[in-house]
Amino acid sequence: MAEKPHTDPILRRGLMLVLSSPSGAGKSTISRNLLESDDGFELSISVTTRARRGSEIDGRHYHFRSRREFESMRDSDELLEWAEVHGNFYATPRGPAEKALSEGRDMLFDIDWQGAEQLRDKMRADIVSIFILPPSMKELKGRLRRRAEDTDDVIDARLLNARTEIEHWRDYDYIVINDDLNAAFRNVKAIVDAERLRRDRRPGLFDFVSGLLDEKLD
Ligand code: 5GP
Repeated sequence: MAEKPHTDPILRRGLMLVLSSPSGAGKSTISRNLLESDDGFELSISVTTRARRGSEIDGRHYHFRSRREFESMRDSDELLEWAEVHGNFYATPRGPAEKALSEGRDMLFDIDWQGAEQLRDKMRADIVSIFILPPSMKELKGRLRRRAEDTDDVIDARLLNARTEIEHWRDYDYIVINDDLNAAFRNVKAIVDAERLRRDRRPGLFDFVSGLLDEKLD
């Protein structure tokens, strides 16, 4: 059941939530749960040159584009960040992210460490970043196998890449170990709830507090 949209009577800046993890650590499920349970979040739909997996829908999971189309978007500055992952290009389209932020809406970014680094450089104050770790490498491998969406070669490449990804854990604001999916999700929700209450994200508090102090009691 979806919660009511996040209602904060006090004007608040949009939050850019970056979730990173090696493939198979549970990031996609946590993202999906967050989007389903919290109407305040919108997903940034990335552009990618990788082949579409069977269960994926163009425009919903990714915007699937040819390499040439990708390069044209990149060269005309339509991408907020981009990176090469597992031999394919991935990028965040600029337009929707800038619009959400300027309208005070929260956006979720399921991107790798390279993308997170670029967003931090561009929009530091608005970024909250969470890195999701698997409980062990053995479990990560098992999850990739059980997902059965990739060939053995692709799984091997993803495991190799997982190490590089994990090495960047220190750059993130929060670390969640996904031993138990429900517990990991509760942790992510707690982070979001707390970050939404941060004083520096709520410029409207000045007026609110002035009003409180000016309030006549009778
Ligand atoms: P997958 O192919 O499994 O969907 O994604 C592979 C990796 O690419 C994941 O770690 C995912 O977070 C990352 N990724 C997806 N979209 C983007 C993006 O727009 N930018 C960056 N930098 N990485 C992305």
